[in-house]
Amino acid sequence: MDLTADPCDDFYQYACGGFIAKHASTDPWDSVFNIQLSNDSMNQNIKKMLLGDSYEEELRKARDEFADCIFNRNLTDKVTLSTFNEIMKECTFTMMYMFEWELASAYVKQNPHEESIEAVRNMIDAIKFEFWKIVTNSGWMDDTSLNETFKKVQNLILILGYPPWFLTASRRPSVAVLRQQSPFLIGATYFTYANLIFFPLLTMSPPFYNLGLDVLDYGAIGAIIGHELTHMFVTYDIDANGNRIRIWPSFVIKLYDDKTDCIRVQYLEAFEKFLSFWEGESHKIGKNKKMEENVADFAGLKAAFYAYKQLNGPKRKLVDFENYSTEQLFFVSNAHLMCSRETMEFMKSLILRTNHSPFRYRVNLPMANFDEFARAWGCTLGTKMNPHKKCVVW
Ligand SMILES: [Zn+2]
Repeated sequence: MDLTADPCDDFYQYACGGFIAKHASTDPWDSVFNIQLSNDSMNQNIKKMLLGDSYEEELRKARDEFADCIFNRNLTDKVTLSTFNEIMKECTFTMMYMFEWELASAYVKQNPHEESIEAVRNMIDAIKFEFWKIVTNSGWMDDTSLNETFKKVQNLILILGYPPWFLTASRRPSVAVLRQQSPFLIGATYFTYANLIFFPLLTMSPPFYNLGLDVLDYGAIGAIIGHELTHMFVTYDIDANGNRIRIWPSFVIKLYDDKTDCIRVQYLEAFEKFLSFWEGESHKIGKNKKMEENVADFAGLKAAFYAYKQLNGPKRKLVDFENYSTEQLFFVSNAHLMCSRETMEFMKSLILRTNHSPFRYRVNLPMANFDEFARAWGCTLGTKMNPHKKCVVW
């Protein structure tokens, strides 16, 4: 947090200023992301397996390599405990990469995480329900587009944590399969043609999930759930069975395009101002940039927020954050997940080459367009985080 910043002026700075300062660096290529921290708890568990004394045959090679990795570092008697821990951590990551299948399958067999998976499944159901309510209430989609989209909602397939075959398969899957379905992946994915959302196990630990309060979970993994659901809602050129067919009439697509153009203008404005020093390149920004990722951030945040508001449990306070309302905690948690120190070079490559926006904008722009944010923080109309002109798709 950076309590000197004004949440109504730059919420990302307010929520993430502390993270940015803590990870200060002058290296232009060294970006640091809070989402990487989900790796750390998994890393601890995998390290225990690599050091453990139960000697499963399939882990033998990984354990031998792990020992080699550590002792090849020319350890001297002057090595400190923190350096040694850092070496162990690095070697664990190397093993997670080299022996991804052996470690992942052994890990999920030992820790099937049934409770978290069930809890996340319930969150997805709640957010899906709320999302559908928002879509039907928005009024700009006709019956055909609503009916066809609803078929996708009904047919949606979820894979949570890891594919079920991880528990039974005896042979190593192909690298391509593992690259898409490993429980060690950091991000969630919507597979368009399969109409399938995959949440790897890594997204079921902090800073995504299991944060101690429902409101924090809804602000973090909840908004990601909403983001992935948005991909299902906006892919109007694929039907519920994965066929490439336009399921919305042209006039509904035109309405959607107009709404996303509003978002495009906001992002371009934000990028132009911030990136003015890239003389000669700024005209490339957003030329062919698809807005789907930004639309997903906008809609996902909203669906998660309203789904949280439907929960009837007691609203507990967070230690050290007793003065914050639950609504405020929702937004802090959402920003916290995305806290990062992104270098200019990193942001430049994101903006020019991908459909994703730098995290600062993934936090500030969706919130600035959401009335509930302004209400939660008491931002007066006309401030940066509560502008007069707002963009809304749903
Ligand atoms: Zn996405």
